[in-house]
Amino acid sequence: MENCIFCKIVAGEIPSPRLYEDDKMIVIKDIEPKAKLHYLCIPKTHFALLAEMDEEKAEIVKHCFATIPKIEEQLGLCGGYRVIVNQGENGGQTVPHLHIHLLGGEKLADF
Ligand code: AMP
Ligand code: ZN
Repeated sequence: MENCIFCKIVAGEIPSPRLYEDDKMIVIKDIEPKAKLHYLCIPKTHFALLAEMDEEKAEIVKHCFATIPKIEEQLGLCGGYRVIVNQGENGGQTVPHLHIHLLGGEKLADF
């Protein structure tokens, strides 16, 4: 997808160290961390919203959520963490390429 910052990161056109990568997703550090540890799990396939999910995209989302607990320890997310998927304008989504925020490394404030 042209002009999508996360597609550019996935393609390696914008350098961003990958803490994890497989055929369906990458994990990078958020550039503006909102917690001591703040990662983004980014599917390699471009789509913006959960509402766009078809069977193929559902498999990708499922893979992301199945993989996150397998890598939580290597990401230092001990003692729990928060998972956020912002959707659309009211949800505060600023990058229209679906991504999963992982926040942790400290006790997070209630919200
Ligand atoms: P959202 O507001 O849910 O769409 O989240 C987008 C996130 O992407 C924000 O937390 C930004 O700080 C983060 N972000 C934007 N550009 C980059 C980048 N080049 N590298 C890492 N994180 C980024
Ligand atoms: Zn994209």
